[in-house]
Amino acid sequence: MTLSGKHAVVTGGGSGIGAETARELAGAGAKVTILGRSKDSLQAQGIPYQICDVTDFAAVGEVYEKARTERGPISIVVANAGAAQSEPIERTDPTLLSNMFAVNVIGVFNVWKAALNDMRSESWGRMVVIASTAALKGYPYVSAYTASKHAVVGLMRSFSLELAKTGITVNAICPGYTSTPLLERTLQNIEDKTGMSQDRASSMLRKNNPQERFIEPRQVASAVKWLCSDASDAVNGHTLSVSGGEI
Ligand code: NDP
Repeated sequence: MTLSGKHAVVTGGGSGIGAETARELAGAGAKVTILGRSKDSLQAQGIPYQICDVTDFAAVGEVYEKARTERGPISIVVANAGAAQSEPIERTDPTLLSNMFAVNVIGVFNVWKAALNDMRSESWGRMVVIASTAALKGYPYVSAYTASKHAVVGLMRSFSLELAKTGITVNAICPGYTSTPLLERTLQNIEDKTGMSQDRASSMLRKNNPQERFIEPRQVASAVKWLCSDASDAVNGHTLSVSGGEI
């Protein structure tokens, strides 16, 4: 499986699933650019990076232009950057919904759309979003996050149909709870809000997965690599659950 010569952008590549995905794609021969807001975490990956907030379409266009100058047209975009804030319904308000949609939906639209001309010109492209099992089912205390992840699957499905004859595929990966800094923040949040120990919270969350463990970032990254390869060219508009069978 080679991605030799393909320029791949991975958003949120400075940590967690994004960092692992960037390494996996680079290992398969892709020329990788990672995007994020925090210079320190991007720089620490030792992979070419651009600083950018994915919610800002103009900013995405500007950093893509710089990345193209260095590594050529963009053939793969892994829209991984995401935000997850949990709140009960009573503390969920329109601002929280807007914030979740800004990153998890509009941010994905921005980074895919800005690469569309490149992919159309080459009659080849891969758009992947790291959605979540929360794109496929509900969870309590994360209604805003869950709504945004369901919405991004709708975006993905429409893109996949509209682009079906262009050589571009568009798919979603839906991980269950995955060992990343985001999960660490979730466990801390449960402890802060309920007093439950992080060990107990961790064991409770692991039980969502029939294999009773957390997903590892490399398990998500290897699924991304496959979706980015020619081997998956008939897979389009798909939601691939990487969750040990949770859904
Ligand atoms: P991390 O918090 O480690 O990674 C999220 C990344 O997104 C960070 O690198 C962050 O970088 C970047 N990011 C956030 N907001 C923006 C923004 N506005 N513009 C640019 N970059 C941004 O978490 P994960 O690796 O766990 O999350 C990656 C994806 O996986 C997310 O979409 C998440 O919803 C999804 N996911 C995670 C699961 C889990 O249990 N961990 C389960 C299912 C799905 P910076 O702050 O520097 O911008």
